[in-house]
Amino acid sequence: MSKTKSAFTRSELNQFRKLLLEKRREILHDLQGLQDSMEDPSTPGEQNQGMSNLPTHPADLATDAYDQELDLAFAGRARDRLNEIDQAIDRIEDGTYGICLAQPGELIDKKRLMAKPWAKYCLEHAQKVRET
Ligand SMILES: [Zn+2]
Repeated sequence: MSKTKSAFTRSELNQFRKLLLEKRREILHDLQGLQDSMEDPSTPGEQNQGMSNLPTHPADLATDAYDQELDLAFAGRARDRLNEIDQAIDRIEDGTYGICLAQPGELIDKKRLMAKPWAKYCLEHAQKVRET
């Protein structure tokens, strides 16, 4: 099976790589901010020593748990996206960037890649595999 080569020029590939690296930095920054907020020193902890550990406001605690769940879901999605970005950068190095993974030889629309540079599929196949 012969490998289809990317249809993009070197300078186009550099442009996509730049987009991917920018997005990567943005996500890492968001994850860092999330981590900082989860380590917020104002959350009940050591300053409660000697006091009762029983929750005085169950509703507040429920909200905290809910927020944390949202944060974890966000962090999970962010890590998935980082993986996709790393794979896309690998494909740039590989010379196979911009080729639909579902059908060898089929090229992904450039406009789609500009909006979503980590895309693995063309629009048609993305809908089939439900890639978002
Ligand atoms: Zn396709």
